[in-house]
Amino acid sequence: MHAPLAVIGGGPGGYAAAFLAADLGVDVVLVDAAPRLGGTCLLHGCIPSKALLHVARVLAEVEELGQDWGVAFGQPDIDLAHVRSRKDKVVATLAGGLQQLAKRRGVRVVCARARFQDANTLQLEGESDSIPDGGVMTFDHAIIATGSSPIVPEPLRTASQRVMDSEEALRLERIPDSLLVVGGGYIGLELGTVYTRLGSQVTIVEMADRLLPAVDSDLVKHLQRRLGKLVEDRLFLNTRVVNMVDSPAAVEVTLEGSASQAVEKFDAVLVAVGRRAATRQLGLEKTRIQVDSLGFIQCDRQQRTAEPHILAVGDVAGEPMLAHKAAHQARTAIDVLQGKSTEFDKRAIPAVIFTDPEIAWAGLTEQQAAMANRRVESALFPWAASGRAQATGRTDGLTKWLIDPDSRQLIGCGIVGVGAGELISEAVLAIEMGCEVTDVTHSVHPHPTLSETLMNAAEVFSGTALEIYKPRRR
Ligand code: FAD
Ligand code: NAD
Repeated sequence: MHAPLAVIGGGPGGYAAAFLAADLGVDVVLVDAAPRLGGTCLLHGCIPSKALLHVARVLAEVEELGQDWGVAFGQPDIDLAHVRSRKDKVVATLAGGLQQLAKRRGVRVVCARARFQDANTLQLEGESDSIPDGGVMTFDHAIIATGSSPIVPEPLRTASQRVMDSEEALRLERIPDSLLVVGGGYIGLELGTVYTRLGSQVTIVEMADRLLPAVDSDLVKHLQRRLGKLVEDRLFLNTRVVNMVDSPAAVEVTLEGSASQAVEKFDAVLVAVGRRAATRQLGLEKTRIQVDSLGFIQCDRQQRTAEPHILAVGDVAGEPMLAHKAAHQARTAIDVLQGKSTEFDKRAIPAVIFTDPEIAWAGLTEQQAAMANRRVESALFPWAASGRAQATGRTDGLTKWLIDPDSRQLIGCGIVGVGAGELISEAVLAIEMGCEVTDVTHSVHPHPTLSETLMNAAEVFSGTALEIYKPRRR
């Protein structure tokens, strides 16, 4: 079998690359080891986690109505099998859609594990009938989009059924009485929120001195306060797991750091301490492609590897490991294969942590500015001054712009609050378009909305804010 373009991996990076190439008339073979397209994001990540977070959010709103507004519905009755099948239905619908889209575009999909034999040949292994004779496939160009897999440090390695990674936790087989979440990052906080709302007593341990160490602390503060209450202060920073012993009734975990007890028993443990590139067993040593210590493929700004006819996109090509970054890099890669001079050079890749409240940011963060010794000004609008936030009882939010003091251009934005993930796109557009502060202050935002807080924060910078008093700039 020969492919003018072979794409390895059918996640948001791989299927985007395959579909875009097919739309240009390229004959594409898309190889994925899994029987369904969608990759980590659709099958075991973004989508199932957001389906469960939706349930968690509604449960929280019902509780808030009872506590704050005098409208009580009684205790929720959770039919776990139904929740699970509803979540699986969402995934199946979208995966089926991708299969149809591949078919309609004429993309040849092969279910197999691919491994490089040399820089122009792949060996395809697996059970599927779609694998060509002998499993050998040659190609002119290839795009590697094999994604990432969880990191499991030595003390956390165990065969215990009670210890889960995110994929296992998302299967939602049961709600453990007590759940230890190791890692206060994206996955730990999102899935910790889900399990707490569904009834587990959740403990979170994070080895850094705060949650989400890469995110600006003024944003994290709001989340940390609410999450701390939700898990009844069982949120331990500067803490790591040094040992885990499986027993028939529990996992016995030795904690080192600020936890109240050194050894504790948990019904289940979720390990979420980061992910590494899926480049092991890909046969890259048979090519000139280079990887770093976490297995990430070294690429130039056009996504080309050290083999110029092989490109890499998505998680396998490095941080940030986000689905929309993968899809965008796929666009760059296809442009490059068409001979265009496109580079992956985004000012603002948004990131959203879908906790309660959500945290979202785009462009430069204050931490990055400080590390780069770059002078920035910030303009903050606390949601306590927002009519909409007050009306919904969720004033635990903040909208912040980072502004270049010389050009007055918007160079970064951070938002914490309910729905921050939906609000951040305005900031992405403003930063990408090189907008100045006045472009936002002069754009009329509808009242009363949370999107107004982006305009309000810009007005704070100009000294023209109405909702809070900050003297005018002269
Ligand atoms: P993947 O989606 O991982 O796809 C890689 C594919 O390659 C897989 O299908 C795999 O089977 C296949 N493959 C691997 N090796 C081979 C091989 N040798 N041969 C053939 N096929 C192979 N990102 C967001 O932007 N928003 C979110 O809300 C979000 N939530 C997440 C929640 C969780 C729990 C997790 C784990 C991740 C989440 N992410 C989220 C991250 C997101 O899933 C990834 O950034 C995204 O899936 C990366 O896309 P990709 O195409 O690079 O790789
Ligand atoms: P992460 O990098 O977001 O967080 C891991 C956390 O674990 C860090 O805070 C780290 O300090 C901590 N940690 C590391 N080792 C530890 C140890 N031994 N004990 C205690 N804490 C430890 O990683 P993740 O949560 O596994 O997520 C992986 C990636 O998946 C993310 O970086 C992100 O790119 C992607 N993701 C994105 C979303 C989203 O976009 N909403 C959701 C989930 C995952």
